[in-house]
Amino acid sequence: MELTYTEAEEEFRRELRSWLSANIPEEWTRPGFWESLDDAESFRLRRDWERDKALAGFAGIQWPTEYGGRGGTPGMKAIYDEETVRAHAPRTVNPLGLTFLAPTVMAIGTDAQKKEIIGPMLRNEVIWCQGFSEPGAGSDLAALSTKGVRDGDDFVVNGQKVWTTNAVHGDKIFTLVRTEPGSAKHRGISMLLIDMHQPGVDARPLKQMSGASEFGEVFFDDARVPATECLGEIGDGWRTAMLLLSFERGASGIAQYTEFRRQYDQIVQVARARGRDRDPVVRGKLARVLTELECLRLHAMHVLTQVERGRDLGFEASMTKLQWSEAFQDLWEVFDDILGEDATLDSVDGIDLKAMHAQAMWSRSVTIWGGSSQVQRNITAERVLGLPR
Ligand SMILES: Cc1cc2nc3c(=O)[nH]c(=O)nc-3n(C[C@H](O)[C@H](O)[C@H](O)COP(=O)(O)OP(=O)(O)OC[C@H]3O[C@@H](n4cnc5c(N)ncnc54)[C@H](O)[C@@H]3O)c2cc1C
Repeated sequence: MELTYTEAEEEFRRELRSWLSANIPEEWTRPGFWESLDDAESFRLRRDWERDKALAGFAGIQWPTEYGGRGGTPGMKAIYDEETVRAHAPRTVNPLGLTFLAPTVMAIGTDAQKKEIIGPMLRNEVIWCQGFSEPGAGSDLAALSTKGVRDGDDFVVNGQKVWTTNAVHGDKIFTLVRTEPGSAKHRGISMLLIDMHQPGVDARPLKQMSGASEFGEVFFDDARVPATECLGEIGDGWRTAMLLLSFERGASGIAQYTEFRRQYDQIVQVARARGRDRDPVVRGKLARVLTELECLRLHAMHVLTQVERGRDLGFEASMTKLQWSEAFQDLWEVFDDILGEDATLDSVDGIDLKAMHAQAMWSRSVTIWGGSSQVQRNITAERVLGLPR
């Protein structure tokens, strides 16, 4: 592993740092600020802020300028990930688009698709959803049954998706649809890009235990989509989906590490305030989690070095997903252990816990979405290590 940033990259860091410090209001960085807003207000503030950031040139860092990106290096992207977390920048409202769809479009989309999709996405003019999971198809995604029947230049789509993140805010949804009649398993699936503001598409929120509705269900009832609105070849959607999932699973370990490390320090602060830092069991757990986080940092650097050398990590993305999601969940389990019976309090010893409770609850989901830990272990065993099935 060798990772040093060039002078141009360090200059980029200085520019970004100064834009962030001038454009993030101090109150946004206070604990509990985002949790005090309702869903709609939080979404609106973040959507507008992210648009301004894109207009200032700090979006699509690695993508070519002709598609609205900055034309930067992988090193600049790593710096961007690090600095935005460090500055407490608001979470993106377009994660499915930015992290999963965009790199897939850049890899296999047509020139027209790159032009139509990337710029509007960076400016948040189009919020993207991911329509993979169905009530009868989760880990076993190839069991999906949403159908698209060809009618002239269009497909007519019927079926249901579930766990759709941002369903109620979505403008478009990249959707796995069975477009070949009678096909089964991985064959005959296409990835259609469907307009959610049309008759025949109904997005309904699902309420989570945190009170938020970050995801929902999407129903298709004779929704029409032009056959040209297909990413990858018609009937070859499984291959497109696998490529997209490698981006979902390989998401930046540098950003994850920077954020989790800060959260670790907050949890240590709570342990000190409760006098739990003297408990040898708590100390042992904190030490184990810190070790996991440092392994995550080294793994992230390794991945970045490989990417800088132009290597496609493919199925190794499952190892990244496994490592960051398990480390994150272990971290927040220690928080719950520290609080014990005080876990229902909104604050202890002057420390606002609302944002931390939200993270602890969110941590339960990360070993499920993007493919569960069990499934990532299977992929790592079979596809990376070559072990028998
Ligand atoms: C917060 C959140 C956001 C999400 N957002 C989206 C989204 O935007 N779009 C979208 O399409 N989906 C989304 N999902 C859905 C997610 O991709 C699925 O929940 C996930 O793929 C698991 O599918 P499932 O829930 O049907 O569980 P199942 O597949 O029924 O799995 C149940 C259990 O069985 C285990 N299991 C299943 N198969 C195997 C196997 N072969 N070997 C070993 N163990 C196995 C699993 O690990 C799990 O523990 C989201 C989920 C969450 C929690």
